[in-house]
Amino acid sequence: MKVILATSNKGKIKEIKEILNIKNIIPYKDILGNLEIEENGKTFKENALIKARTIYEKIKDKYPNAIVISDDSGISVPALNNEPGIYSARYAGANATDKDNLYKLINELKKRDIKKTKAYYTAAVAIVSKVGEFVVHGWMHGYVIDEARGDKGFGYDPMFIPKGFDKTLGELDNEIKSKISHRAKALKLAKMILKVISKSGIGV
Ligand code: IMP
Repeated sequence: MKVILATSNKGKIKEIKEILNIKNIIPYKDILGNLEIEENGKTFKENALIKARTIYEKIKDKYPNAIVISDDSGISVPALNNEPGIYSARYAGANATDKDNLYKLINELKKRDIKKTKAYYTAAVAIVSKVGEFVVHGWMHGYVIDEARGDKGFGYDPMFIPKGFDKTLGELDNEIKSKISHRAKALKLAKMILKVISKSGIGV
């Protein structure tokens, strides 16, 4: 089986591997090296498809039975016109690190004197193979606060408090995140699709 992940984000790779629990799952970098994929879609769905299609096109001759999975995700804050949304990875600029983006969002809240406000994460997971293309979504609702707490998870997790909790994802165990996250919900659906398409003799 060859399931190839169309992402180089270490936090995502770790979570996807844990949640999908498939043995032969490899990041595209291991096959293709570094690639710049222009994410010029207008939605998480479009960007997830752009990533998965780009990688699939590059590997399909060598691995005709490969299944490529991508994740496009981000955080949206209604009080900030749903920013950063699809621009979550480049909120603080083109070459911004996760930390730059986290503190940019904290500063945007501070500028407006917002201590805590509603926010949600979205994940679009695309699956591309010779069987066709599929996209599923998952969401996690909660709040963002004007400070970073804890060092678990990645990205905006230290400022995000999931609904029903009083700690940030930076403070909560990864096990909790893997049950309630936007990515976990989308990947649960992706897993069902993988099962179905593997019956056609490819992938798993
Ligand atoms: P992408 O790789 O273009 O999809 O960008 C995703 C962006 O959203 C990155 O900045 C991530 O840090 C952020 N993001 C997505 N999912 C999560 C998450 O589960 N926790 C924290 N940040 C996330």
